[in-house]
Amino acid sequence: HKDFVFAPSSRPSVSVKGTDSRFPVNRIFCVGRNYEAHAQEMGMAVDREAPFYFTKSASSIVLSGSTIAYPPGTNNCHHEMELVVAIGKTAFRVKIEDAPTNVFGYACGIDMTRRDLQFKARDKGRPWDLGKNFENSAVISPIVTVAESGLIQSGSISLSVNGEVRQDGDINDLIWSVPELIADLSKYYHLQPGDLLYTGTPAGVGPIEPGDHLSGSIDQVGQISLTVA
Ligand code: MN
Repeated sequence: HKDFVFAPSSRPSVSVKGTDSRFPVNRIFCVGRNYEAHAQEMGMAVDREAPFYFTKSASSIVLSGSTIAYPPGTNNCHHEMELVVAIGKTAFRVKIEDAPTNVFGYACGIDMTRRDLQFKARDKGRPWDLGKNFENSAVISPIVTVAESGLIQSGSISLSVNGEVRQDGDINDLIWSVPELIADLSKYYHLQPGDLLYTGTPAGVGPIEPGDHLSGSIDQVGQISLTVA
């Protein structure tokens, strides 16, 4: 056998409420424009033919309660408060009606976005990676198991910055529901335990500034917070 040339990094993980166990993060999938009012504020029409996705590296996970530096290479980093679905079992070509069995649980997430870089890429027809997939860009709260929360189909999702409400929506307004997303995404990937799905953000996204304190919540799921140094 051969040794590694350097120590491999450990896998990021998220605590599971009410247990001593942690959920190891595999891949991070994210859905674009999944609330109509947010698509409008981005100046885009909603595509009702199919959802679309981008990804973040598992290493971009940052746990709720953390303090992060203002991200490099941007002058317009935005918060996007989102419901996160934690996948608990392998899913490939699953039917919408069977998709709920693939849900391990839910978390609150913030899809941090370098909006200036995302728009530059978008307008040139280039990939979104620089705008979306960067260090500390996937903020996540502890996971609540679906056994604890029940299936999440509606309920308030909100985010405040320095105590002022910026985003205030309802999960019921998702254009593509969680089962629809799992069914669709599993046409293209063998979803695995440990995969996370950020399901899109309601309207009210906006810039963060050094010194800001972000706090969000989703009914039946929990709370999330982040401080920008
Ligand atoms: Mn997003």
